Amino acid sequence: MITISILGSTGSIGCATLDIVRRHPDRFRVLALSSGRNEDLIVGQAEEFRPDMVSVAPDIYPAVRKRLSGKGIRVLSGEEGACEVAAHPDCSVLLSAIVGEAGLGPTWEGILPGRVIALANKETLVVGGQAVIDRVREKGARLMPVDSEHSAIHQAMRGHPWEKVRRVILTASGGPLFGRSKDDVSMVTVTEALNHPTWKMGPKITIDSATLMNKGLEVIEARWLFDIDPEKIEVVVHRQSIIHSMVEFIDGSFLAQMGAPDMRGPISYAITGEDRLPLDVPTLNFPVLRQLTFDEPDHEVFPSIGYALRALKQGGQSAIWLNAANEAAVQAFLEERISFPDIARIQEVLLTDAPLEPPRTLSEIRDSSRKARKTAEERIDRIARTPVAAGATGS
Ligand code: MG
Repeated sequence: MITISILGSTGSIGCATLDIVRRHPDRFRVLALSSGRNEDLIVGQAEEFRPDMVSVAPDIYPAVRKRLSGKGIRVLSGEEGACEVAAHPDCSVLLSAIVGEAGLGPTWEGILPGRVIALANKETLVVGGQAVIDRVREKGARLMPVDSEHSAIHQAMRGHPWEKVRRVILTASGGPLFGRSKDDVSMVTVTEALNHPTWKMGPKITIDSATLMNKGLEVIEARWLFDIDPEKIEVVVHRQSIIHSMVEFIDGSFLAQMGAPDMRGPISYAITGEDRLPLDVPTLNFPVLRQLTFDEPDHEVFPSIGYALRALKQGGQSAIWLNAANEAAVQAFLEERISFPDIARIQEVLLTDAPLEPPRTLSEIRDSSRKARKTAEERIDRIARTPVAAGATGS
């Protein structure tokens, strides 16, 4: 029996995970759930899966507590509650799927001896970097990637030593704005940027997919997850999202992992510790597919992958600052305060400002990130207040 706790249970990854659990009740027991503000959904999940505890956003805490009273479920709130969910002593698998940097603290607390950390929250590694890897090693936990690209690489690498690898190729869907020109993206609306061709995901990651920052964050994630030289990581646009990533070995042989774009595949592989469960994921009909296509990412229109590589090269707090810039800018874009190209502008400015002393502890990481966030907000305010705002200068 796999005992599982889920951080971010009401998001798309959390719901897909509970769908797997629902279909395999003999394999899993849900111990603890943490969620944000979706009151009806978290109450429904708690009633269905009967965890020992749930943690919710402070503003819905009184209502959720009332609705779950007398059901033997402890209700907690805020980051403290999420940390308690993460640290549930009987948990063998912690699925970390909170969106953004908010996932770092609870995931950190959940890195405990002998357990599997199924990591869907890429910011944990983007921001935490070496400090997270050190903690995983120290505690004797095991990281399993949930991101489809990293899961693909993990699967391709089974039985192969890393010194036999020539390069790793991360595939990118290209996002909703693939093929657009520089002029064209300056006019992009929130609705257009949220319209992803293949993956159904939350708004933050969908915008990251439109800017290609999602792939940039994945490059950084891969660097830490696999302890690989960033120069060996390449990105190729593959519109169909059938090949989830590939590894090229020194003998010129490639191993690619394929499947329909459905996150339940990589999730179940991660939470079972590399087992394969029967899932009703659609199969691939190759004669219908007919062809798979590959393109170079357009780094001029979508510079974020380049910024991620630069962050790795610069080191220090660069990735923390780049990530904070991105989180603040994506939020401002979703609120229609800045234009689409402004997101990349904010990323670049913060990357230039990032301090180069490496952070060593969780609290140093968080201090750095708070400072970066504040700097990003100031920059955004300046852009948002400028009347010629938002893309009109075209630089
Ligand atoms: Mg991915």
